[in-house]
Amino acid sequence: MKKLILENITKKFNEQFVLKNISFEVGEDDFLVLVGPSGCGKTTLLRIISGLEQATEGKIVFDGKVWNDVPPGDRNIGMVFQNYALYPHLNVFENLAFPLTIKKTPKDIVKQRVVEIAKMLQLDQKLTYKPKELSGGERQRVALGRAIIRQPNIFLFDEPLSNLDAKLRVVMRTEIVNLVQQLKIPSIYVTHDQIEALTMGTKVAVLRDGEIQQIGTPKEVYYRPANTFVATFIGSPQMNLFYGTLEGEVFHEKSGLFQLNLKIFLPWLSESVLAVLRSQKELILGLRPEDLLLTNEAEGIINTRINTYEYTGYDLIAYFGDQSNLYSFITKETNITAKNKADVHLIFNPQSIHIFTKEGKRIN
Ligand code: ATP
Repeated sequence: MKKLILENITKKFNEQFVLKNISFEVGEDDFLVLVGPSGCGKTTLLRIISGLEQATEGKIVFDGKVWNDVPPGDRNIGMVFQNYALYPHLNVFENLAFPLTIKKTPKDIVKQRVVEIAKMLQLDQKLTYKPKELSGGERQRVALGRAIIRQPNIFLFDEPLSNLDAKLRVVMRTEIVNLVQQLKIPSIYVTHDQIEALTMGTKVAVLRDGEIQQIGTPKEVYYRPANTFVATFIGSPQMNLFYGTLEGEVFHEKSGLFQLNLKIFLPWLSESVLAVLRSQKELILGLRPEDLLLTNEAEGIINTRINTYEYTGYDLIAYFGDQSNLYSFITKETNITAKNKADVHLIFNPQSIHIFTKEGKRIN
């Protein structure tokens, strides 16, 4: 199986680290989504993989061959960008054919491949159209087709859907994933959109300031975030982080919102986790908005008042706390809008608690 391996890739620009010790593997069945905020180094990493940029340190290996000194043209990489990068004066046929015509591929083979790929991408009725006569989704499909036609070793996608409207993005997400699964080509997809990361990736790597914070399946990064950065970056509305102190095994939220005896509430915590807990004076408890449930006064762990809310049409996001610490919960009880600023009582399932050190590292 053909695999791309990155070993401790580090990149410095003007003595500043932009990437630090990036290591991962992407096989034929993998669709790795690299996600992170603006400026965290995503594009730089793609440029290093494609050979447009040299790593300061570290190794890139593809199919057993070290790629560090292989020129970009010999890596045969299919790249798809946000701005499509189509040739405006060429029609769809010519744009798709371009990677083959520059390699002087015989005309009949070019025609056969273009027709095959145009069919696969439902562009067969548009072969004579120029890019300006196509919709955004069609243009992006031509860009995809042009990447596929060269039968690349790997696919690199750099925010390819950012220029499309919300509805089309959903359609194209599925199209790209299905296509890549069919072709069995190792793929890396860069985005700052956590929804794309969760819906498309077989693996998700969360990047911050040039360092991988966590790499795992979408479920792993969502349900077991390694730290508070991943916890709040993945998921919308973001995970609530309650800061507080620990006295024995009792957590006291710092503004007095609630108290919780962790040993009683989480009876399955192992001795080693409890030992770590006892060594901490401060702690952060994470709870996702969908894990906070409305209950009656007697059962409520968090008893508070709704500040403001957002009606999403399907459910309601209700906010509580103050401006500096605004928390949220999601409920289907949309009639709570009428009771705005009402007192609410919230409970949560012990399984849904995420415990972090005050530095933000996951404990449980
Ligand atoms: P975005 O999501 O905004 O596209 P990104 O995660 O792709 O961001 P990069 O474009 O990889 O981020 O940039 C990472 C950092 O490296 C930035 O701080 C950027 O200023 C810096 N950088 C990128 N290219 C160069 C360069 N050629 N010279 C100096 N610094 C650079």
